[in-house]
Order: sequence, then C-alpha cells, then structure tokens
Amino acid sequence: MIWNLGSINADNFYDLPHLPGPGETLTATRFRQGLGGKGANMSVAAARAGARVMHIGATGADGRWAAQRLFEYGVDIPHVAEVDSATGHANIHIDPQGENSIVIFAGANADIDEQMIGAALSEARPGDTLLLQNETSGQVYAAKTAKALGLRLIYAAAPFSAAAVAAILEDIDILVLNAVEAGQLHAATGRELDALPVGDVIVTLGSDGCKWISNTARTTRLFPAFPVVPVDTTGAGDTFTGYLASALDRSLPMPQAITLASRAGALMVTRRGTADVIPDLREVQDHDFG
Ligand code: ADP
Repeated sequence: MIWNLGSINADNFYDLPHLPGPGETLTATRFRQGLGGKGANMSVAAARAGARVMHIGATGADGRWAAQRLFEYGVDIPHVAEVDSATGHANIHIDPQGENSIVIFAGANADIDEQMIGAALSEARPGDTLLLQNETSGQVYAAKTAKALGLRLIYAAAPFSAAAVAAILEDIDILVLNAVEAGQLHAATGRELDALPVGDVIVTLGSDGCKWISNTARTTRLFPAFPVVPVDTTGAGDTFTGYLASALDRSLPMPQAITLASRAGALMVTRRGTADVIPDLREVQDHDFG
C-alpha cells in the first residue's frame, strides 16, 4: 500500500491573445479546468500502475470535484479532508505561441496538520510506502512518523526547497529529483549526490533518461530514455515517480522499477494534459517504443 501525502490542485487553463501586462484586463478565449498538483498526479500514476493508494491531503469546499476525480481514478480518499480554505490551484495563462505564466496558491494543501497525518498513518503497516513532495504542509512530521513505523520513504524534492530537504533527508530511503533540482540541492547543501545520507538517489534527465545512484552499493547506473516524439512534457516527472513508487511497493528490484517508470514517463510526454491522461500499466507494458 502507498500512502501519499500530496497536493491536490485545480489547474485552471486560460487561453489568451497575449500574456497580460501590469494593469491590463484581458478576456480569455477558452477556459478548461483539470485535476493537478504533483501529489494528485503521483497518486493517479501509482494507482494506474496497479498500487493501492491512500491519498493524504486536503481541499476546500470548492474542490470536492477534485477529490471525487481522484477517487474515480482509483485512489482511496478517506484521508482527504475538507478544510475551510480555498482548494489549492494553479492559474495557467497561455498565449497563442504556447508561452505561459503561472500563478500557484497552496490553499488547503498548506492546511494539512499533524493530527490529520497521524490519524492516516496510524493505519499504515511496516513495509508500506510513504510518498512525499514539497507542495503540502506536514512532510517533516509525516517522514518522522513513517520512519518510526518502518515504512519505505520516497521523497520527490519538487518544487525544490532547501529547508524541506535539510529537514527530511536523514529520514528518507529514496530521493527522486530532476536535473534542475539536483543542481539546487548541490548549491544548497554543498554535497554531491553520492555523499547524501540516502540509500538511493534517482536523477531524472528528461530525454536523456535517468541516473540511479545507489549509496548502499556505491554504484551509479544510467538508464537511457525510451525514444518518443514529445508533445507535452508536463507531468512526466510525476508519472515517473508514481510508477516507481508502485513498482517498489510491490517489491520489484530497483532496475526493473526504474525501467517501468521510464517507460511510463516516455509515454506520458506523447500526451497533452496531466492527471487525466496518465497511462495505465497495460499501456505502459505493451507500448512498442520501436
Ligand atoms: P520532470 O518532469 O520532473 O522535469 P523529467 O523531464 O526528467 O522530469 O522526466 C522524467 C522521466 O520521464 C525521465 O527520466 C524519462 O524517463 C521520461 N522522459 C521525460 N521526457 C522524455 C522524453 N522527451 N523522451 C523520453 N522519455 C522522457
């Protein structure tokens, strides 16, 4: 079972004639709303990969549809609370060239408290997996609690936060980050990835695949990407991490888990959208990458 303390966002997409300047009022030519947030994306990916996933999170009353969507996608939501805040959201402005500007508000994601996390994790069993990212409150408490309970801890250091990484690093088993976050981590800590107190570090490198640094075995191994023609790279990292968590949760060895996650990430970049289009296990296993 996977416990995912994760963000739930409404992604609000506005198509605009151009990105607005200071003082400008613009009428959008199109509006779409979808389920987003790194946490929600990872929960959907892990569930599509076949895991039982318990999401720990929060929305406002305006986000009941988002929790319901998670449920429809196979994620368990008894520990998604409704709180007295706006649901977390991202307002995404897109111009005709596809350039965007994005405003994010954490809202209810910042209202997840220790009591909510403690209640959820009191149902966890040793050998379960806890997945964490940086878009919610309470990660440090969750990490300490889960470690004491004997859970496997996977942490995606995204979006990067030096304070969060410093507080959590000693407790986690597996760190997943992209190349930009790896640079930020190095700048913040002054440490190389192979000198971190974390058993396994995975750096995703987009179309260059990923790198697995095992600090237990003192080895580094490169995994090439599966060849695809990308049309939209959003959600690739979240899909990769959700699939990785799912594979490790059902005890696949790391190289097989990374290969499966890489297949899922590659397939994801061939699709426009986020949570709604994350591929399922059969599609990921059966796809012919040529
Ligand atoms: P993020 O979205 O966090 O920046 P990446 O872009 O590194 O993450 O993507 C995560 C994983 O998805 C990569 O390690 C790779 O396996 C796969 N992936 C991403 N982009 C591509 C691509 N253009 N071609 C093939 N695989 C890709």
